[in-house]
Amino acid sequence: MKELYIDFAELKAAFPIEDSFERLGLNMKQNGPAFRGPCPTCQSGGDRALIVTPAKHSFYCFGARIGGDVIALVAHIHDCDMKTAAAFLAGKGSGDKPDNKKSNASTVPQERNKEAARSLQPLSYLEPKHHLVQKAGLDEKTCAYLGAGYAPKGIMRGRMAIPIHDKIGNLVAYCGRALKGEHPKLIFPKDFKPEGYFFSALQIPVDEIALVRDPLDALIANQNGVENVVSVLTETINAAQLRLLAELMDDNDCQAIELY
Ligand SMILES: [Zn+2]
Repeated sequence: MKELYIDFAELKAAFPIEDSFERLGLNMKQNGPAFRGPCPTCQSGGDRALIVTPAKHSFYCFGARIGGDVIALVAHIHDCDMKTAAAFLAGKGSGDKPDNKKSNASTVPQERNKEAARSLQPLSYLEPKHHLVQKAGLDEKTCAYLGAGYAPKGIMRGRMAIPIHDKIGNLVAYCGRALKGEHPKLIFPKDFKPEGYFFSALQIPVDEIALVRDPLDALIANQNGVENVVSVLTETINAAQLRLLAELMDDNDCQAIELY
């Protein structure tokens, strides 16, 4: 392989640290002047372990208790050396990901696979433009955007399958929303605990969260420009759900909840 020359200072100037989140698969949420999220490398320190402060061009990981610039962030998340990290950032080298054949990087993909195993694969057979979905007031675009659609088969068969994610964005289940007046209105896979989750259409941090009681309402609200909407998946709200809601507010630096 050809020797690679990378000017680190030039690279840092060209890549604002917050622009690396997507490429690194980080689930960062803005919190005032900083972004916080879980650290996929450390998998410790909670869901706010990683803190990135764009104005300072720096990150810090409470799990590993290390910090640095955007190149160091890549090196930490990919568990690789600075040169490999810089090559990744510059989009050079073999593909978009660093060479994992490197000695100490070998444990990282395994950790990732474990993480991936916890996240379900999206159902590929959902029909976002089924007539019952349209009749419910949803358009194809919103359904496709939020990963919902009519389920022609499987345990949600005949219902609208709506994806439920955990707070770091892993798909954990689908809920089946009745489209023909069936009871119960919502069904879930067995062993899934709906009181442990919300349906969320949140894409960005918001000052206020709009809480609704039906995930279908949340989808429709989102379709109509309400992007801060979250739905409970149960008829009543218990203490654990209130705590989850408080965490959601905290993660989003959210000051208030509007109830609908
Ligand atoms: Zn870390």
